[in-house]
Amino acid sequence: MASHTARFFVETKGDICIMDITKEIENAVAESKIENGIAAVFVPGSTASISTMEFEPGLLKDLPEVLKKIAPLEKDWEHHKTWNDRNGASHILATILGPSLSVPFHKKKLLLGTWQQIVLLDFDREPRKREIIVQVIG
Ligand code: ZN
Repeated sequence: MASHTARFFVETKGDICIMDITKEIENAVAESKIENGIAAVFVPGSTASISTMEFEPGLLKDLPEVLKKIAPLEKDWEHHKTWNDRNGASHILATILGPSLSVPFHKKKLLLGTWQQIVLLDFDREPRKREIIVQVIG
């Protein structure tokens, strides 16, 4: 089994910040010597997630609206008593959406749908510098 590890950093703005990281994942596959396989994308941390969506302005408003209904950012969560912080909703949303994603590729091309981009969702309340890890396996 061949594998290649790539890492990159993304600056996020805080609260529900969604960023298109498709290009960086494509780059990780391109710089590997692997033609066919899986790109496993992972974000370390308990307040961010990796998923896919159609990255367009309407959904970039609709999705946070739904997520805030599931876990309101301003609610006084029990978690806040544990650490005296204010990111209980951030942790809950990160767990629901999950920290990783596996994307198959063939002839070095990610097998994504036409309207499907890979996104980092940062739920933390403050701007963060996030590290993303891509394990390319073939
Ligand atoms: Zn916390």
